[in-house]
Amino acid sequence: MSFPQPDPDLAVELITGRRNPSALFREAQRLRDAGKGRVVTYSRKVFVPVTTMCRDTCTYCTFAKPPGGGGEYLKPADVMAIVRAGEAHGCTEALFTLGDRPEDRWDQARAFLAEQGASSTLDYVRRLTEQVNAETALFPHANPGLMDDAAMAALRPSNPSMGLMLENISPRLMEPGMPHHDCPDKDPQRRVATIEASSRQRVPFTTGVLVGIGETPREVVDSLFALAELSQRLGSIQEVIVQNFRAKADTRMRRSPEPTPDYMARVVAVARWILGPEMNLQVPPNLTEDYGDYLDAGINDWGGVSPLTIDWVNPEAPWPHLEQLRHVTGARGFRLEARLPVYPEFIGDSWIDQALLPKVSSAVDRRGYALAATMEESRR
Ligand code: SF4
Repeated sequence: MSFPQPDPDLAVELITGRRNPSALFREAQRLRDAGKGRVVTYSRKVFVPVTTMCRDTCTYCTFAKPPGGGGEYLKPADVMAIVRAGEAHGCTEALFTLGDRPEDRWDQARAFLAEQGASSTLDYVRRLTEQVNAETALFPHANPGLMDDAAMAALRPSNPSMGLMLENISPRLMEPGMPHHDCPDKDPQRRVATIEASSRQRVPFTTGVLVGIGETPREVVDSLFALAELSQRLGSIQEVIVQNFRAKADTRMRRSPEPTPDYMARVVAVARWILGPEMNLQVPPNLTEDYGDYLDAGINDWGGVSPLTIDWVNPEAPWPHLEQLRHVTGARGFRLEARLPVYPEFIGDSWIDQALLPKVSSAVDRRGYALAATMEESRR
């Protein structure tokens, strides 16, 4: 008997476990296999935390810090040192992750940017990604918070792809007492506007949901349907991440329950069902002990994995060693392949800036996977 078409009410019943999810898991696997075959990808990356200052105060975050309490900017030489080390370890992605518009809140941020001659944090990121792109083999992937069309256009010649998590479509999470209260950058409609800009600017775009920050199952489902609609309408969404909240000791949400692995697996399977066979669906492998179970829920990507730098957003959770990742993936009958930050299906002149396309094309094999890793694999 065929599985029903995606339906919000049924999705809530499946996520909450009120309906037995075994048929859902079979359907998620069928869809993934139909769209992606038996290949699971990852991106070999270094993490570049451009600034740990932020104007927002999400109650689960340990990344953002005030100036004087750990909040600072990396200087260009610091960034290049990280990226050069990544280059020596065969990495192909430099993930630029940072707090949102710290200059709107902190004098120290304004002073740093003035000293660097940058008009904003986004302008500073543009200059850094241009330098990394020009001087190293790595490809920047900017994840710098909200962007308008002009910011995205400025970053496009040095970034083959960019990203911004939707996190959740519900504005309720911004109400007093909720995790995004007083966080202007977490307004879902502003985040949707950034995702929409990626289509106009022809930027392959990564987004996703954050699960377990106080949203209801219905709000998770609404967010996944919102992403499915955006993907169909825009064509620019290259992957959707389903990320689980992890409670951190020194935050206001330190006692909040984390989503269980079973719940997460059901959310992931529902995401595959709603998003369809063609979407690249990712769960980070460092935030769940038995992460291989997500392969049974229909994912086809592990995201950025670093042989070198920590996960600055979840510093307590080390990435698995690449050998272990290969083993876990292979044990379930999949082949692990390294990709660039941009997915193979987006490599071409309609999505990549003309100035960047020759570098991208020469870094991939004929299937669009990372050439450096293919060569390493053939030597094994
Ligand atoms: S989660 Fe992001 S936007 Fe929120 S406080 Fe942390 S760095 Fe800022």
